[in-house]
Amino acid sequence: MAHVPDYRLARERMVKTQLAPRGINDPRVLEVMGKVPRDRFIEEALSGEAYNDHPLPIGHKQTISQPYIVALMTEALELTGEEKVLEIGTGSGYQTAILADLSRKVFTVERVRDLMVQARNILADLGYNNVMFKAFDGTFGWQEYEPYDAIMVTAGAPKIPQPLLDQLADGGRLIIPVGDRFSQELIKVTKKKGDIIQKNFGGCRFVDLVGVHGWKD
Ligand code: SAH
Repeated sequence: MAHVPDYRLARERMVKTQLAPRGINDPRVLEVMGKVPRDRFIEEALSGEAYNDHPLPIGHKQTISQPYIVALMTEALELTGEEKVLEIGTGSGYQTAILADLSRKVFTVERVRDLMVQARNILADLGYNNVMFKAFDGTFGWQEYEPYDAIMVTAGAPKIPQPLLDQLADGGRLIIPVGDRFSQELIKVTKKKGDIIQKNFGGCRFVDLVGVHGWKD
């Protein structure tokens, strides 16, 4: 039988050295980051690097985000377990799994159909049954199931797509990298009685959000 490496220790080390010391302190986020098998979301040849402190390629010129960025964006959404969450940019499905563990239901949209299908298979394999997938331009959001208590965009946008602001529930939180094509700032938006409150979580670098309300192809 092939040797299946046990990455439990690598995950614990990741939480202890990359997340907690940099200020991630929501215990639910730390617990889930220590549990979800990140190695399963990348190709086997790279799985030894799964818990390293950097992003990794996932094909189609896309990347799985650095663990710290995944944790930072997740923490910003302040999930309690009851939320309906919209995710734009499924990619590998790793972030999707983290969100699914921390909320009631996740609606995730990916423009590259192959990536969506691959992510759907891995999440089914891991036993997730609270995720809905769609292959489409996520800059339109997913109108059918709005409003969302939390929205996460994991690709860099020139500005916040209006449909996403429209589909955010009152009291809802949205996190999105906004900037030019080379660097962005992580912006958290909170909607309160129609008002939009913005907070900057610092610099980051993501692949392009490509779509009608994003970058042109
Ligand atoms: N959260 C992912 C990161 C994926 S990288 C992970 O954990 O692996 C960003 C993803 O956004 C890519 O897969 C890219 O194809 C997707 N994307 C870019 N523009 C998009 C759009 N308009 N709608 C949906 N997905 C988009």
